Amino acid sequence: MIKLISEVTQKILKGGQITYKESIKFINIEENDKDSLQALFEGADEIRKKFAGKKVDLCTIMNAKSGKCSEDCKFCAQSAHYKTGIDEYKLLNYEKVLERAREMERAKVHRFSLVTSGKGLNNEEFEKIVKIYRKLSEDTNLKLCASHGVITYEQALKLKDSGITMYHHNIETNRDFYGNICTTHYYEERIETIKNAMKAGLDICCGGIIGMGESREDRVKMAFEIRDLGVKSIPINVLNPIKGTPLENQEILSPFEILKTMALYRYILPDSYIRYAGGRKALRDKQNIGFRAGVNAALVGDYLTTVGSNIDEDKDMIINEGLEI
Ligand code: SF4
Repeated sequence: MIKLISEVTQKILKGGQITYKESIKFINIEENDKDSLQALFEGADEIRKKFAGKKVDLCTIMNAKSGKCSEDCKFCAQSAHYKTGIDEYKLLNYEKVLERAREMERAKVHRFSLVTSGKGLNNEEFEKIVKIYRKLSEDTNLKLCASHGVITYEQALKLKDSGITMYHHNIETNRDFYGNICTTHYYEERIETIKNAMKAGLDICCGGIIGMGESREDRVKMAFEIRDLGVKSIPINVLNPIKGTPLENQEILSPFEILKTMALYRYILPDSYIRYAGGRKALRDKQNIGFRAGVNAALVGDYLTTVGSNIDEDKDMIINEGLEI
């Protein structure tokens, strides 16, 4: 295995690509094969250095409309199908958003995104959010991202015009597994939204959630789907099972499985931002290892419905690993 890892690493460093078959071999490395795992992490680190450099991208999100969602995504605390006891509120007003954006600007986070619950926004909400982004563009120096579910090409153009540079929309998991996770909207609608945003000239942030009961092969297939879409920012969430959702009893992935997946994503997507996102607390005291195994971006601060990381602690960890903010 170590010989294969070395050959594939060299192939990528010379501009080649990892194959699906090689990826399957890597994702099936077991926890007791410490030498292969170490070689994989070191290879991912070399690939990150060559194609993505030393800079780490930090972003933060704000839940601008919470809960009461008509959809049934089985991991989500905001679905009206489940009783999770989260805070529910309508689209926030500009003052509340600006207060948080300023806080993030002071914390020197690069990107700020509003996220709203639901499959998409209705027309009134969409016009309101566009106005919010226009004002944020004038009042802050933050790079603005947006995450408002399914959008049309015309809506993507409006978001771009309001100052948005990147649209976030996850594919969540592999196409074949998706039906186990959501039955109220389709995988193809997600792909369509990503293409609409791309066509409008927006950069795309698109990843998914690992640990929802999918196979290792599903994780590899998701990475290849993302590669085929041409996405350059890939948030990898780890399922944090939420009480009241159908996945509440799902076993949490081991740190080894999470880090191996991150490293493999670097092999498949050599020049992208491989981004730590929600649920990374499952890594416990091993979060720093990710920054030596391919990770070069992080969602910091609070997540949508759960408390996240301490931004200063994250920055210290990144600098201690020899990377730059
Ligand atoms: S992930 Fe989005 S669409 Fe799915 S239930 Fe949660 S808020 Fe609704």
